[in-house]
Formats: sequence, C-alpha cells, structure tokens
Amino acid sequence: MDFKDFEIIYKENRVKILDKSKIESNLKDIIGAHSVSTKEIDLLAYTRGSTLIGFNWDIEGKIASLPDFITWPESVEQISEILKLANKERIPVIPYGEGSGVVGGAIPLYGGIIIDMKKFNKVIKINDKDLTVTAEAGINGMNLERYLNARGYTSGHIPQSLYISSLGGWIAHRAAGQFSTKYGKIEDIVLGMELVLPQGEVINFKTIAGASTGPQFDKLFFGAEGTLGIVTKATLKIWPLPEKKSLISYAFPTIEDSFEAVRKILRENIYPAVIRIYDKFETARHFPDIEKAKDKVMVIFICEGNSELVELEDSITKEKCEANMGVTCGDSPVKHWLETRFRVTETSSMPPYKIVFDTIEIASLWDNAANIYHLVLESMNKFKGVLMITAHVSHFYPNGVGIYFSFGGVPSKGQSDLEFYQDCWDTTIKAVLDAGGSIAHHHGIGINRSHWMDEEWGKAMDTLRKIKKVLDPNNVLNPGKIYVNTWQRGDN
Ligand SMILES: Cc1cc2nc3c(=O)[nH]c(=O)nc-3n(C[C@H](O)[C@H](O)[C@H](O)COP(=O)(O)OP(=O)(O)OC[C@H]3O[C@@H](n4cnc5c(N)ncnc54)[C@H](O)[C@@H]3O)c2cc1C
Repeated sequence: MDFKDFEIIYKENRVKILDKSKIESNLKDIIGAHSVSTKEIDLLAYTRGSTLIGFNWDIEGKIASLPDFITWPESVEQISEILKLANKERIPVIPYGEGSGVVGGAIPLYGGIIIDMKKFNKVIKINDKDLTVTAEAGINGMNLERYLNARGYTSGHIPQSLYISSLGGWIAHRAAGQFSTKYGKIEDIVLGMELVLPQGEVINFKTIAGASTGPQFDKLFFGAEGTLGIVTKATLKIWPLPEKKSLISYAFPTIEDSFEAVRKILRENIYPAVIRIYDKFETARHFPDIEKAKDKVMVIFICEGNSELVELEDSITKEKCEANMGVTCGDSPVKHWLETRFRVTETSSMPPYKIVFDTIEIASLWDNAANIYHLVLESMNKFKGVLMITAHVSHFYPNGVGIYFSFGGVPSKGQSDLEFYQDCWDTTIKAVLDAGGSIAHHHGIGINRSHWMDEEWGKAMDTLRKIKKVLDPNNVLNPGKIYVNTWQRGDN
C-alpha cells in the first residue's frame, strides 16, 4: 500500500512546505541524521493518536492527517532549536508523547514536524524527605511507576493507559488515574516543571509545596495540550507504598442511592483511593456473575494506606453504603476489576461490525450529577443510530464527580462515520452544558471539544486566545486545537 491509496480525512488546512529537503537538512543539523525521518512507515505511525474513530478509519483505508517530519530530539536545547526553525519557516510543530490521547490532540492537522518525546525517558531523582520524584517528560507511565514501586513508592497516578502514555501527555491533558479520589489528578500531583515555549525560550517553575508568589502561572500550562509549550521535565509527589488495602463492593438499587452513599463518605473527609460506580447497564456488562448486583448499580472501593486509617475508612465506607440501601457483594468484584482494569477490547472489537464507539468524560458538581447522567442517556437514546449509551463514575471529590459515558451506534444512510461520531459527541456535550456541567474531566479538548470552548469558558476564552497569540504569534505549536471554534469536519 502507498500513501496515494489512503484517504486523508483532515487535508484542508495542510501547510505547504516548499523546500522539504532544506527543512529536513536543517532538522538533521540540529538533532543528527538518525533522529529525523520522512519515511512513509514512520509518518504513518503518527497520523491519528488513539482517537477511537481511528479504528473505523483503519479498516476503511483512511488516515486522519499526515505529518511531514518525525523528530526524536534528546535535549532541551534541540527542542528549542527546532521551534526556532519552525517559527522562521512557519511550520507547525506537534509534541507527541505516546499517542494515547483520545480526542485528537496529537493529530498533525496541518502537517508539520512531530516532536516525539521518547528520548526524554529518564528518572532524574527521588527525594525521600520531600517525597518527590523528578523525571523527564517523555517517560512512559508504566516505566515510571515500576521504577517507583521497586524503591517502595507510588505516584498514585495510575491511568488505564499507564502502559501507553507519558508524563508530558498526562500534564498536557490534565489526566486522572484510577486512584485519583485519594491522590488527585495530575495537576494536583505535579509540583514543578520545565517547558520550552513556542518560540524556543526555556522556562522553569520551581518545585515547591505551596507558595504565594503572584499568579499561579504554572497552571496555565496544565491542559495546554502542546499549544503553549513543550514540557520537558516535571517533579511529582510520591507516597510510600500502602501498608494495607481493603477491597469493598456494594450494589445499590439506583444511581441516586449510590451517589448519596459516596457523597456522604467524602463529606466525612474519607478518601477511598478507588471508587467506581457502574450504572446498571455497565454493571450487567462487567459483573454478570454477581447475583446480588442483577439490575443494580455496582460500586467498588479500595481504601489504602496506613493500616489503622484503612480500618477506619473501611468501616465508615461500609456504614455509609448500608445506610443508603447498599447490599454488600464482598471483595470478588474488586478483585475482578483489579485483574481486568487495563483491558480495553471493546474499543477495537466494534469497528469490524461498522459500529462507531467512543467514550466521553465530563465533570459535574454533586448537585446536578444525577440530572446530567439521566439527561445524557435520554438525549443519546433519542438520537437515531445510537445502539448503546452507558456510564460509570470513577473520579470523586467532596464537591463533585467525573462521569464517563460510553456510546456505540451506526450512522444513518448517507451519513459518514465522522458525521455520526461528531453528532453523538455534540448531543452529549449539549446535554451536559444544558444541565450545568463541564465539558471534560480528564481526556482534554483536542479536536473533539474545541468548538465548545467558548460556551464552556465564556469571555475568558477571548483572553486565553490572546495569551496564545502572545506566546505563539506564528501559531506553530499544535495548530487547530483548543482555540478553533468550529468542528474540523474533514472531507468525508
Ligand atoms: C485505552 C486507553 C485508556 C485511557 N485511560 C485514561 C485514564 O485512565 N485517564 C486519563 O486521564 N486518560 C486516559 N486515556 C487518555 C490518554 O492516555 C491521556 O490523554 C494521556 O494523558 C495522553 O498521554 P500521551 O503521552 O499518550 O499523549 P499523546 O497522545 O502523545 O498527546 C496528547 C496531547 O499532549 C500533547 N503532548 C504530549 N507530550 C507533550 C509534552 N511533553 N509537552 C506538551 N504537550 C505534550 C500532544 O501534543 C497532544 O496534544 C486513555 C487512553 C486510552 C487509549
């Protein structure tokens, strides 16, 4: 197969690079010939990230978009030089971690230079007294966690994509791990970082536990998705490995009952590391053998840490569940989850049946969480072609939740996969905004949500666009994301 055999979805905006061989040679001067590629096989590997509709495109011989150059720099200075070249020649640059982002953040919409961060893969140091680890931003999540575990620590950040994502990608999308209720999201875990700004300047936010040094400027770069800078290094909180774990599960008659139990646990300032509420559809899918959970809402908990505290958390968690109609299901559902938690076969098993499948996570305060859940299900069930819409809730705060919807369906006659996919996204996001929720909890904006940013942010979005212009006047860093207010509809 050759490039000409593929249909490129997003080809309208591709930047024309007049003298490609000159740019290739400039890049080779900066990072060495062996660290630049224009080979078809390499370019193809960087076309779509893990956007789930990409599985449908793979089968149909379509690719999202094509970069022009792949680069693997190994120093901050090299990244800085590549950005200076890109500004001079007005070529887009797309930072790339491990390509596990699911909203199209790493798709090279306008072509250009991919900066793959894989060579930034080292742990720099652990500080036991400060309880911190400093690592390069391209480090693979599993490699970092294994390194920590072998020395008696954890970062507490265990996303389902642990094996296929990087530290820089987590910061770029404000990721959340499965244990986030206790340890926080990545923006709660990172204490300091180094970045290369769009025009090549290097800045450092020093590692500090708390400070009052003017605006909290570093926060601007969490969730910036490679549009405001490239993260090269970060310092994270770490924790000693937990002394004890307790595995708990309860089945509830309704999602409202389960929400009440969990809300009341958190209100006591008790933070189980893992809490997962599965609506009755997902309970049937994931726990078909648990008799007591038939037609019910399954909730699993893991409390972990100091033994005495875990015992207390265990008993308060159980007490609140039982006071809110919960029926204990023992530890086997939690063991089942622990064994299967990195398995995601459903995402790739649907496209061969021409089913378009995806997940959409959103955020809500407690007050309207149940309302949002029902409104999304109602809106999606009315939408032509939708075969399934289900949810689980896996990130909790004393004040609110992150809800994770999964949908699957088939386009109507004459409708493309992409149109159906985009309509499903819009139906869900509209229902969330109508009910007062927030459009994303931890997957980020990428292509899929940028056209909702004005509604989400209001006037503040104008200010954010101005900041982007100041930092990146030539719009070289990851163009087409976050600030663009229309769906990139592609050609099909
Ligand atoms: C099976 C599966 C399970 C998942 N589970 C979770 C989960 O539990 N929790 C969760 O939060 N997410 C999850 N995700 C989504 C994904 O793993 C996260 O969004 C992750 O943070 C992306 O990291 P990455 O290194 O793969 O980034 P990439 O996909 O390579 O890039 C994502 C974005 O980050 C930018 N970027 C990458 N590196 C840098 C850098 N060093 N500096 C600046 N910008 C950069 C890119 O330009 C792009 O915009 C899952 C995805 C899959 C496929």
